[in-house]
Amino acid sequence: MSGRSFLPKLTGSFSHPAGDNPTVVMMEAAYRHHGLDFRYINMEVGPEAEGLADAVRGAKAQGYVGFNCSLPHKVEVIQYLDGLGESASLIGAVNCVVKQADGRWIGENTDGKGFLSSLKGVIDPAGLHVALLGAGGAARAIAVELALAGVSELTLVNRSEARGAKLAEHLRQNTAMKVNFCGWSESFVVPGGVGVLVNATSIGLAPDGEAMPDVDLNSFREGLVVADVIPNPPHTRFLREARSRGCVTLDGLGMLVNQGAANMDYWTGVKPDLAVMKAVLTEIFGL
Ligand code: NDP
Repeated sequence: MSGRSFLPKLTGSFSHPAGDNPTVVMMEAAYRHHGLDFRYINMEVGPEAEGLADAVRGAKAQGYVGFNCSLPHKVEVIQYLDGLGESASLIGAVNCVVKQADGRWIGENTDGKGFLSSLKGVIDPAGLHVALLGAGGAARAIAVELALAGVSELTLVNRSEARGAKLAEHLRQNTAMKVNFCGWSESFVVPGGVGVLVNATSIGLAPDGEAMPDVDLNSFREGLVVADVIPNPPHTRFLREARSRGCVTLDGLGMLVNQGAANMDYWTGVKPDLAVMKAVLTEIFGL
């Protein structure tokens, strides 16, 4: 026998649709760079009954050390886990599942943390008024982390009033941040005191890359930080319009890289080189 192990540690992602998600190349590049015998498998797991339950059972049976959950599984997966980390519990959604040394499967949420690390590269949001478009899983994660980072006021904008109002109430009950909810029946006008505007909806995601959230472009002003969560394509029309009006822009790749790095740290104990992860995405998107 050679003494060499031919059994890599397995990680991966369950989502639908999975084909446009570039996370696999970023994670595998980081594993290779750090000499880790880990693999990351991108898996299509649809919304049909038992689909996610079977996938989680499969991961447990096959010796996975953890996995990501993306659309539409981030909330549903909670019922198959043994517990939640602190921010996942406050957010009410999980994007990263980690097998603990004692065998328990714990759900974490690194989406909001990834966004915040990326945002802090251009501005510290503490004490600022932020406007957030969307009230789905990504928006929820971002809103909670913004509150934990000391944002003083959040204007939350969402198409479905019930969903938006529910998130606003959740934030008021559980954080110290002032939260205003705004319906979205007409173009959103960015209030004058807002320092950061975030698109956390799925509008603009491939293949609808030219779609844009309904924001009054005349309310974009020089110096406003405009961020988009959409990772593919990274240079969304929303960001291009903002940049042409003198805004500071932040694309979804930064969030993707930073949340991927946090996931890798959970699974391997290694804090990866962000530049390696960024480089492979930059190459894929021909930036
Ligand atoms: P959800 O399905 O949970 O939420 C989608 C949100 O977008 C809801 O607020 C929904 O509003 C809104 N929305 C969708 N279509 C429209 C429309 N036509 N008009 C107005 N509002 C609309 O998705 P997630 O929050 O999980 O994901 C959102 C995006 O974030 C995805 O594109 C995903 O790729 C991206 N993402 C990026 C990450 C990164 O690392 N860069 C990480 C995680 C997510 P309503 O409530 O009315 O339906």
